[in-house]
Amino acid sequence: MKRVLCDMDGVLVNSTETWLDEYRAISGDNLYPRDLKTYDFDRYAKHPKLVWKALSSGDVFRKSWPLFEAVSGFLHLGDLCDLYVVTYSHESVLDGHRAKIDWMAHHFPDFPEDQIIFTRHKHLVAADYIIEDNPAVLNKWLAAWPQGKAYIIDQPYNREFKHPRCKRVNTVLDVVMDIQEEL
Ligand SMILES: [Mg+2]
Repeated sequence: MKRVLCDMDGVLVNSTETWLDEYRAISGDNLYPRDLKTYDFDRYAKHPKLVWKALSSGDVFRKSWPLFEAVSGFLHLGDLCDLYVVTYSHESVLDGHRAKIDWMAHHFPDFPEDQIIFTRHKHLVAADYIIEDNPAVLNKWLAAWPQGKAYIIDQPYNREFKHPRCKRVNTVLDVVMDIQEEL
């Protein structure tokens, strides 16, 4: 059985939208996800420090919703492969890991909690595939695993990313459609 790593933020969950909702509320700066051209979100903010404050002050993660077709795609993937969630919570979020575990339990009650891996070094985790939205993570992971293949979930901040072993898709369900023959 093939092993697949699946990121949370920007792949399963719309946390960027919720994060910027909170940022706009405390800063008055009209920044939306469509304005982010790269993954360095604070670069596009008029008040970069408030970007990080927004993440720690609000319960951003618990208020976030699954992205389009993420639930059906993830459930389907779980039936087909050895599926792990690989994610990280910024150190400014006091109970970030707990919030992520709770979010997974709420939306995927049958998914084993011990298959959620928290690390900021995703390239150390071996797998056949990774599903990500962050170009920097993909570059490191694909360099570390020369046989590995990747899917990037299309987001405004990752449109420039290209790699011969990475396919661009809109949703996790698109990954399932593409990957199921190989699993
Ligand atoms: Mg992400």
